[in-house]
Amino acid sequence: MIYILDNELLVMYGDSPKTMIKTMLDKTEFLKEVPKNNLIGIKPNLVLAKPSASGATTDPELVSGLIEFLQARNYNNIKILESSWVGDKTSQAFRICGYEELAQRYNIQLVDLKKDEYVHFAFGDFDLKVSKSVTEVDYLINVPVLKAHCQTKLTCALKNLKGCIPDSEKRRFHTQGLHKPIAYLNKAIKTNLVIVDGIIGDLTFEEGGNPVQMNRVIIGKDPVLMDSYACELLGYTRSDIEYIYLAEKMGVGKGDLAQARVYELNKDSKPKQKMEPTEKVQQLARWIEEDNACSACYGSLIHALERLREKGKLDKLEKQIAIGQGYKNKPVKTIGIGNCTQSAIHHVPGCPPKASDVVKELENILGE
Ligand code: SF4
Repeated sequence: MIYILDNELLVMYGDSPKTMIKTMLDKTEFLKEVPKNNLIGIKPNLVLAKPSASGATTDPELVSGLIEFLQARNYNNIKILESSWVGDKTSQAFRICGYEELAQRYNIQLVDLKKDEYVHFAFGDFDLKVSKSVTEVDYLINVPVLKAHCQTKLTCALKNLKGCIPDSEKRRFHTQGLHKPIAYLNKAIKTNLVIVDGIIGDLTFEEGGNPVQMNRVIIGKDPVLMDSYACELLGYTRSDIEYIYLAEKMGVGKGDLAQARVYELNKDSKPKQKMEPTEKVQQLARWIEEDNACSACYGSLIHALERLREKGKLDKLEKQIAIGQGYKNKPVKTIGIGNCTQSAIHHVPGCPPKASDVVKELENILGE
């Protein structure tokens, strides 16, 4: 089957982003709309100089797979564009995050947007400056990380474009509460394709530090749809994130998941890897009885527990939560997460389930 991606999202589970992205892109027709001489811009999330294992930045292996896919089909006019957050040097992020090496290997130009000129956009009640190099790109591939954010709750496709504006604008965006500026930014810059690095993201902050393995790559064309889906993976709903609603209202995309199709190319089957959990993750894991859980499933549960903690409800949860393939044929007397725990008294189906469904079920239990 070939996927068109207009109102579709394609999901693949695993921990080999380079192989995964090639397999996924091979099943789409997106290159049909891209002439060979187009300038293709790749916008990763290199918010600061920390490797992707921290949960903050885009895995260079994912971008490497994307570049190899494009170059194998004779798309050779490719640039990687980024401006790290205020106070960090993009050049350092390029180096530490593995992009300098990537650029040399594939003969690709890295564009530090902090050194760029700017183009002015005016929209009725809002105006903004955008990095000139981004406006010169013919086809923009946005490659964000799936992670939570202390201020906007989610940072994924729509917010990743904040790396395409001058530092003075980043400061101004913060003083204006981020939501409206992010929506307008996406009106000014069109994303043509979104590839979400959902292998390792962060539990609470955009700068990483509490990495959670979610073991998936997601692709689609509509950044609004992508963010609507992404927020549910972290335990939120679309209505929790104001900029998704605003971007939709401005015509950037359509976020109604009921009107979309989400295709999963495979299932996560690998037991969770031994990532050293941070203290914060360990505290959440106190509620979990895990037996061979897949990373995608375990990551959903960790995000769900953090969302409950944020709402002040977690300490009221008296029951332990069973998760993992080890429960497949065993009775589960408590709460069970995922299809492997079907015998549980309270059960959240899915393989893996969304964190938003886990939050809903746990809130129901707490309300009983
Ligand atoms: S339901 Fe079971 S098989 Fe499916 S993701 Fe969860 S642990 Fe893995």
